[in-house]
Amino acid sequence: MDGHRPRKRFSQNFLADEHYVARIVAAVDPRPGQRIVEIGPGLAALTAKLIERAGHVTAVEIDRDLAARLRERFDPARLTLVEGDALDFDFAALGDGLRVVGNLPYNVSSPLLFRLAAQAAHLSDVTVMLQKEVVDRMTASPGTADYGRLTVMLRATFAVERLFVVPPGAFRPVPKVDSAVARLTPLRERAPQVADPALFARVVAAAFSQRRKTLRNALATVCDADAMRRAGIDPGLRGEALSVADFVRLANVLAG
Ligand code: SAM
Repeated sequence: MDGHRPRKRFSQNFLADEHYVARIVAAVDPRPGQRIVEIGPGLAALTAKLIERAGHVTAVEIDRDLAARLRERFDPARLTLVEGDALDFDFAALGDGLRVVGNLPYNVSSPLLFRLAAQAAHLSDVTVMLQKEVVDRMTASPGTADYGRLTVMLRATFAVERLFVVPPGAFRPVPKVDSAVARLTPLRERAPQVADPALFARVVAAAFSQRRKTLRNALATVCDADAMRRAGIDPGLRGEALSVADFVRLANVLAG
């Protein structure tokens, strides 16, 4: 690991298998001039290849020591390094058409995905490695155990595609879990029109807060059964039975 001691608190499991580096870079297929933004470049396994292909990368790294190494290694004309927390990063400030890439720090992957969803208007696509279990949740269908808040919140904004699985042995240190690479593409005009995004988020969170409860009970603090019926939703169902479109319709009835 080039003398770097991996920090658990930053979820540092570095990609150490060239085969998977090549597959991720091929999946992104960066072209010269594209705006590539990498989250958590670490020891630059992906960064170096992305720079080779695109000419320039903007990368956000929270670890001060890694940031110093990256600054030393790469010409600033090739790598714009932002030292800081990707959770606070204003992607929109970089403009539009951003192509986000990252072997994400798994301890903050959900909030990072929510942040990317909030800035989706500025993104062209997102190719990220996550815990396989998170990708299973992102791609789940209604009525399954994996279907939940993360599924609904992300799929109201993105089409999500699972690309391939990466085994623990591809990383150093070796993690306990399988990983998977996913591609998220903003739905844009195909996205359901959410009248009040904060209200939508509240409805979805409440519906899944106690999965065993019917919507009548789970949503008791958010709306009454009549509002559900007005949205064409049976209050006796559980949240997991509702599609993304159902949730949007319900939230829009409440907003109206
Ligand atoms: N991209 C490298 C690779 O594939 O080998 C490193 C991946 S490692 C799983 C996650 C990286 O994200 C580490 O470099 C870590 O320091 C960085 N990181 C962790 N939390 C972060 C945060 N909140 N914002 C930006 N970078 C973060």
